[in-house]
Amino acid sequence: MANVKEIFNLMKKTSKKDLEFIDKAYNFAENAHKNHKRASGEPYFNHLFETAKLLAELNMDAVTVSAGLLHDSIEDVGVKEEDIKKIFGDEVFFLVNGVTKLGTIKYRDNKRHMESMRKLFVAMSQDIRVLMIKLADRLHNMRTLQYVKKEKQRRIAVETLEIYAPLAYRLGIRKFSRDLEDLSFQYVYPLEYEEIKTLVKKQNKKTLHRLEKFIKSLRKALAKENILNERVDYRIKGLYSLYNKLKRKKRGIEDVHDILAIRIYTETVGDCYKILGIVHGIWRPLHGRIKDYIAFPKTNGYQSLHTTIFTGDGSIIEVQIRTEKMHKNAEYGIASHILYKEEDEKVPQNYSVNWFKNLFPNILNLSGTSQTYSAINNGVPDWIKQLVDTQSGITENGEFLNTIKSDFFEERIFAFTPKGDVVDLPRGSSPIDFAYAIHSQIGNHTGAAKINGKMVSLSTKLKNGDIVEIITKESNHPTRKWLDMVKTSMAKKNIKSKI
Ligand code: MN
Repeated sequence: MANVKEIFNLMKKTSKKDLEFIDKAYNFAENAHKNHKRASGEPYFNHLFETAKLLAELNMDAVTVSAGLLHDSIEDVGVKEEDIKKIFGDEVFFLVNGVTKLGTIKYRDNKRHMESMRKLFVAMSQDIRVLMIKLADRLHNMRTLQYVKKEKQRRIAVETLEIYAPLAYRLGIRKFSRDLEDLSFQYVYPLEYEEIKTLVKKQNKKTLHRLEKFIKSLRKALAKENILNERVDYRIKGLYSLYNKLKRKKRGIEDVHDILAIRIYTETVGDCYKILGIVHGIWRPLHGRIKDYIAFPKTNGYQSLHTTIFTGDGSIIEVQIRTEKMHKNAEYGIASHILYKEEDEKVPQNYSVNWFKNLFPNILNLSGTSQTYSAINNGVPDWIKQLVDTQSGITENGEFLNTIKSDFFEERIFAFTPKGDVVDLPRGSSPIDFAYAIHSQIGNHTGAAKINGKMVSLSTKLKNGDIVEIITKESNHPTRKWLDMVKTSMAKKNIKSKI
């Protein structure tokens, strides 16, 4: 039986007022949905309860958790908008309304779906908590997708795989994105899913006992250097992420060394490097496989040291070393930043961390329930705002999603200016995209480009970690040919307006 206390227990910091507020939403939702059942036959309220629990686990505030409980009340059981406003305030109403689909009278079928999607993006560009609710809602829906009609299953799963999982990833919420990916994988590519599952099972059987032996020797080696209390475990790579890796690298499973990865968790950044030194002192690392994501975090804020080593008994294994704090970051993204805000003194100054920091004001500034809530777009990441900007004006159904997919959710790369500023671009971007990402004036006058000190053609595809220098020339202007060389819609838009 559902119990509101389960939600409370998952929340870290709560006041008496918060608990009363959530309790009110809990009772309201339970009552509003009392004759309402899910496809599985269970009470509909279970879905709202589970959604709220996921939000509580992410350490969202009382307003968001309450909106999670109420998120289907307008759409599914006809609760009046005014009632939500009157009882729970404008802020809760904004969040609930943001995830509510448009009415069936105004739009039909696919058109309704596309317009609802656009509405959701606009709402989340004003308040990122709308997206958090949508992600929690979708995760629970994916966990119960087996009860939904066959023809609907695939559509929902495709959308999850193409839109929501990448969004969760981009927000750094690995705990959500991994599940969203693997849950949709089995519906979207059922054959491939079974294939990979069997493959991994076989492979793991072979490596698991070797792995345990290796962990023992690793512990011994660390103890020798007085590193005694570190937590060591291993993680199994998500099936969808493995599937993508195999497809991308065109390699066999025996050449993927991070299906099982050892993880060492420690306290300080210094300890991370010290442990890396100890590991390399004993086991030979594979050339070119050492990745310092502490100094150079991934675009979504992920930090860790990765290395791949020969264990000496014929196997090769990836070792990941990180602080406990980095680990919470990697699992909870935005949410962990709120939780650990006070201690977070020294996060490296780079684009991705700033991006996270930009989210704070909005998420932290929630306590005032009495004032009118006017959707302020403080703290919404630029890429979400951009996404909505480039969409306004596009009405063709397919184009809307295609642009979103190609621009924002394909794998991203990091490139650097000569001064070390990070520019975040989709894979396949060229120096011209880079130039436009810095400033439209630089883009418009791009004359030549250097990558890592060498002159390159403007159509060169940038790689992760490239240092890009743009040489501008006043007399230079965009040409039609540039359109074939760019990937981002920002560059395309600018070029089109000049030719
Ligand atoms: Mn729902």
